Amino acid sequence: MLSVMKMRSIKHVPQRTCVACRRVKAKRELVRLVRTASGYVEVDPGGKKSGRGGYLCQVRDCWEKGLKGGRLEHVLRVKLSEDNREQLVKYGREMKDDDEGAS
Ligand SMILES: [Zn+2]
Repeated sequence: MLSVMKMRSIKHVPQRTCVACRRVKAKRELVRLVRTASGYVEVDPGGKKSGRGGYLCQVRDCWEKGLKGGRLEHVLRVKLSEDNREQLVKYGREMKDDDEGAS
């Protein structure tokens, strides 16, 4: 009885899958990208914008893989313009190399 109540009190952590490495992580550890109505893909740090979204780890590798391998485009069903891709690649370069030792 007591243990059941304990389990129910554990806070549910929303999880999402990184489109590049397919790892499932807590939503707050991932960066959301959203396809706006105009077909432009933006970084959505707050995770609040409406539109089709995809998630990437806060890791440079995943951004490169997701952007250059076309996985993000596939998930968002969009064709990135060169401008747009460049902007996102640039954003990804600010990320750390890998997530070893994170969390
Ligand atoms: Zn990843």
